[in-house]
Amino acid sequence: MIIGVPKEIKNNENRVGATPAGVNELVRNGHTVYVQATAGEGSGFADEDYVRAGATILPSIEEVYGIAEMIIKVKEPIESEYNLIKEDQLLFTYFHFASYEPLTHAMIERKAVCLAYETVERPDRSLPLLVPMSEVAGRMSIQEGAKYLEKPLKGRGILLGGVPGVQPAKVLVLGGGVVGTNAAKMAAGMGADVTILDTNLARLRYLDDVLPANVKTQMSNGYVIRELVQTHDLIIGAVLIPGAKAPHLITRDMLATMKPGTVLVDVAVDQGGCIETCKPTTHENPTYIIDDVVHYCVANMPGAVPYTSTQALTNATLPYAVQLANKGWKQACADSNELKLGLNVVNGKVVYKGVAEAFNLDY
Ligand code: NAD
Repeated sequence: MIIGVPKEIKNNENRVGATPAGVNELVRNGHTVYVQATAGEGSGFADEDYVRAGATILPSIEEVYGIAEMIIKVKEPIESEYNLIKEDQLLFTYFHFASYEPLTHAMIERKAVCLAYETVERPDRSLPLLVPMSEVAGRMSIQEGAKYLEKPLKGRGILLGGVPGVQPAKVLVLGGGVVGTNAAKMAAGMGADVTILDTNLARLRYLDDVLPANVKTQMSNGYVIRELVQTHDLIIGAVLIPGAKAPHLITRDMLATMKPGTVLVDVAVDQGGCIETCKPTTHENPTYIIDDVVHYCVANMPGAVPYTSTQALTNATLPYAVQLANKGWKQACADSNELKLGLNVVNGKVVYKGVAEAFNLDY
């Protein structure tokens, strides 16, 4: 199959759809890969790295879309890319169709085959192509939180791990899924005193088993949260209720009970946030302050660490990309229900229920 890897053109997107290692795997499977010049630059990969891996570099995005049967990328196509997409071309990328209707109509019009990373689903209902970005965001939440606890950045001026003779900071993690577990692990590693909450008792048992002794688990409920926010320095929002907006576990009135300089990192901001006062921010301007409490609510945290995020994403997408390239999308989806669930729009028709329902389209 002929595969194309274009450069991402969405504002501030430095990731790329395939690493040189990923390209090499596709080439070793007998495929031809074209990479747009400088596509990997933002993630630390030079054109020469791709050439060594077996790719051919093309100077323009038009040439990549023009020649490829399958496009592998990171973000949904933006308006200037719509007209480059050809009938029957397979696009393997994040789409998040339900959040942007014009994209859905554009893909229907182009008669492309859109296989969305975010809806590829395992039999246990886990979403394997979302997990890597949750791992990145969870780990990063502590790095960012520790930074904004510094006094010049308006935090409490407390060092996460303390020092001999001085107590460490107290970190509260709301939600013990992928983001929360990774956050708790990082905070514990830095020596903080960590408490992680979840509503799922089986999950709390597991976390109690695998996390170090400076992480305590506690059942999540409104009463407990109201108590704990008063004594914690860094609070991470990491809850998810699949298919729904995040519940507001921290309400506006609770801010006044927190210590001045407390830092809130609401990773769940992309689902509306689990902190009532959370509103999406950007890497250029990541924080704002309400009632002396620092809010960090960046909606695309992994975008700040493209070197790590690109590799994490390719590690997860590559096995699926190889199946698609080896068998063609029809056979690959017939053989794998995981991949079939990724199909959202096929040759002018919406084939994913959630997207059809979002915009009242035929399904
Ligand atoms: P997950 O499904 O692995 O974990 C969510 C956890 O929340 C589950 O364990 C669930 O039991 C728990 N939960 C649900 N209700 C709760 C409550 N009331 N109290 C405590 N825990 C509760 O999800 P995840 O992969 O960890 O993702 C968490 C959020 O982070 C999602 O909204 C995801 O979209 C978001 N995310 C954001 C970024 C970003 O850049 N901001 C990046 C990746 C993921």
